[in-house]
Amino acid sequence: MEGVQMEVATFNATTGWAGKRIIYEGGRFLLEGGGAITAQAVLDYDRQEYLEWPYAGFREWVERIVSNTRLVGAHKQPSSRRIEEAKRTAAEGRDDETWRRIQGRARPRHRQRDADNPHILAWWTLALDAVLAENIARWQWYWPDMATDDVESMMPREVLEKWAATDPEVATVYDASPVLMHFCQSRADQIGLSAAVREPLWRECALCGEVFVEDTLSDSRIARLGVEHLDFCDPCLRQCLWPTDDLCKSEQAILEYLRELSVEIGRVPTQQFAEGADVFLDVDLDARVRRMRLLERRPKVARVREVFGSWLNALIQAGLLEDGTRPTARGTQTLALDGDVCLSLGEKTIDDWLFSHGIAHEREPAYPEGGYRADWRVGQDFIEYFGLAGNSDYDARTKEKKRICRAHQINLVAVFPKDLTSETRLGKKLSVFLHEEA
Ligand SMILES: [Zn+2]
Repeated sequence: MEGVQMEVATFNATTGWAGKRIIYEGGRFLLEGGGAITAQAVLDYDRQEYLEWPYAGFREWVERIVSNTRLVGAHKQPSSRRIEEAKRTAAEGRDDETWRRIQGRARPRHRQRDADNPHILAWWTLALDAVLAENIARWQWYWPDMATDDVESMMPREVLEKWAATDPEVATVYDASPVLMHFCQSRADQIGLSAAVREPLWRECALCGEVFVEDTLSDSRIARLGVEHLDFCDPCLRQCLWPTDDLCKSEQAILEYLRELSVEIGRVPTQQFAEGADVFLDVDLDARVRRMRLLERRPKVARVREVFGSWLNALIQAGLLEDGTRPTARGTQTLALDGDVCLSLGEKTIDDWLFSHGIAHEREPAYPEGGYRADWRVGQDFIEYFGLAGNSDYDARTKEKKRICRAHQINLVAVFPKDLTSETRLGKKLSVFLHEEA
C-alpha cells in the first residue's frame, strides 16, 4: 500500500510555523507544504524547542535513525577473515546460538499483506504506531517480541478477545500473539518505521577479544548495556554480571571491593547497584571495561549481610559512610529508612515519606535523553528534589529537565526546599501518588 503517512511532530506556537506538521512518508521526512528534510534536521528543530511530539516514541525513533548512522563506522569491525572464521565455527555446531541466529535472520517471518489485516486495523491507532517506533528505537532487531507484548498490555482485554475470536488468521494458528507480531512487523515495514533498524554488527569483545555478532545477546543483555554499547560477548557478560564463583568472600575483599567501586562510580554504591542498567549507561568504553572487571569479583549481597550484618554496616566499615552520613559537595550524604542512598537530608526526607506511605519508588531513573537522572520514579512519573534552586547552572539544568519531560509526556513532580518545611506541605505535594496507589 503506497502513501501511508505518519505525523511525527508539529511546530509549536513559539515558531512562525506553528501548527505545521512533519510527516514521514515513503522513507522520507517531509515538511508540510515544503520539501524533504533529513532526520538530523528534525532533531535540530527539536533541540531549538520548536517541536511538539504527539508521542515520545516517535522522537526516540528519529534519534535512533541519526545515531545508527553515527554508530556504524564508530565501532572497530573485526576483519572479514575473523568474521568468516566465526561463522564457520558456528556452522560446525560448536556455537549453536550464533548459527541459529544467522539462519533465523535470513528467513522471512512475516508477509507484506499482514499489515492489511482489517480485523487489527479496526482498533489500531497512531499511539500504537508510536509503541512500535519506541520499541524499534530501544530494541532494534529484538523489537518485534517486545512491541507485541507492549501492544497486548496496552489494549483492553475485551478488544483483544473480540479480535482473536473474529479474525480468521488467528483461527488458522490457534494463537493470537504471532498474528499480532506479524502485523506489527509488516506495519513497521509499510509505514517505514523499519528504516531505523540497523543490521546487528560483528564485534570484537572488549574484554576477551572474541568475535561475536550483536544479536547473540539476549534482551536482558541489551537492556543492561544499551543497544549502542554491545561491547562484550555473551560468555563475558554472563561471567561478570551473573558470576557463579564467589570470589569475594572475606571481610577484607568485600571492603576493598566496596571502596574501589565507590571510587569508580563516584558515589556510595547501593545494594542494587550491580543489578541496574546504570552500571554501563552514560559512561565511556574504558569505564565500561573497568566496571565489568569490578563486577566480576563482586560479593553476593547475602554474603555481605552474613559478614557485616547489613549492606549499610559494610559501607560504614569501608569508611564510606561515617556513622551513616558524610558531607559531599551537594550536601550531607545519608541513608533513607529503606536503605536508599540520598545525597542530602532533603532527599532523605522525601525518600522516607515515600517509604513510610508504602509507595514503591525507584532511585535515579534515566531521562529519555541528555544523560540526566531524576531523583525518583514512581510508576511512570518522575520526582525531582530541586534543592539548589537559585544557582544559575543548576537552574539551567532544571529547565532542560522540564523540557525533556514535556517532550516525552512524563509527569514531573518538582519538590523545592520550601515544600519540606512541614509534613503537611510535603504530603500535599506528593499526595498524587497516594491516590494512584489506592
Ligand atoms: Zn568476551
